[in-house]
Amino acid sequence: MTYRRYKRKSWNALFGNWNPYQAPLRGLKQKLSYYNGVLDDFDYYIVHASEEQLEHEMKIAESEWSRLSDEIAGHRGMIAELQNKIGFIGSFFNTENTQRIRWQIRNLENTIKNKTPNLDNKYDIYRRKREMYDKKKQYLLCLQKIEIIKECVEEAERKNDKERRIKNELAKSIQEKRHIANEVKGVLRKNKICPYCGGIIDYNNGLAHADHIYPIAKGGQSTVRNMIYICKDCNLKKGTLTLNQFIKKYNLNREAIENNLTKMHKDF
Ligand SMILES: [Zn+2]
Repeated sequence: MTYRRYKRKSWNALFGNWNPYQAPLRGLKQKLSYYNGVLDDFDYYIVHASEEQLEHEMKIAESEWSRLSDEIAGHRGMIAELQNKIGFIGSFFNTENTQRIRWQIRNLENTIKNKTPNLDNKYDIYRRKREMYDKKKQYLLCLQKIEIIKECVEEAERKNDKERRIKNELAKSIQEKRHIANEVKGVLRKNKICPYCGGIIDYNNGLAHADHIYPIAKGGQSTVRNMIYICKDCNLKKGTLTLNQFIKKYNLNREAIENNLTKMHKDF
């Protein structure tokens, strides 16, 4: 399509500061419905008239109006010339010649008076044709904008779908891993102390949490070597942090933790 070619250069001329190629989907949809509303406001005649025909009619009306207005201006020039003559001769004599000139002036003035309504009429016609022509241009511009925005909406929707699919896949895989984690918990050795803080783990009151040393959310696996029981407090603090981030954030004893994990045959 032709607008693809002019996409990069001319969106600024079409849309000003608003850039449809960077706008979010919601903004695009809002703009689209706005321009569709604008489109609805054009009347049937403008929508169906051909641009060339309107331009042609406008030019004809313009030339008729300008021809008539030139003609009247010519008459005014002639009157001025005749008045000049009378001004000079008439100040000395009131001759047959000056009377003839006065008669000519009156004739020209009458012609102007008769032609003036026609001039106004021609101007009205020209103005109406020009309005229609301008409206048609606006209409075409609006169509162009809608087409570009539609294309952007499709692109944004495709992108959103893809992101949604990826998120879903990720959520599914995390769910599966959690499921496996429950199985692994069954065979996980119940260590007496928390490898992170060194505290005693209470297995009776829901205070023992199975931790993924490398977090599930970051792609960690549910294996015996990546899982270990820790105290509830440490689990809440660690959340989705990696071991390294956890140690740094809470300024923990790295050497002691690494020793504990090594003793328990864990990967980290
Ligand atoms: Zn702990």
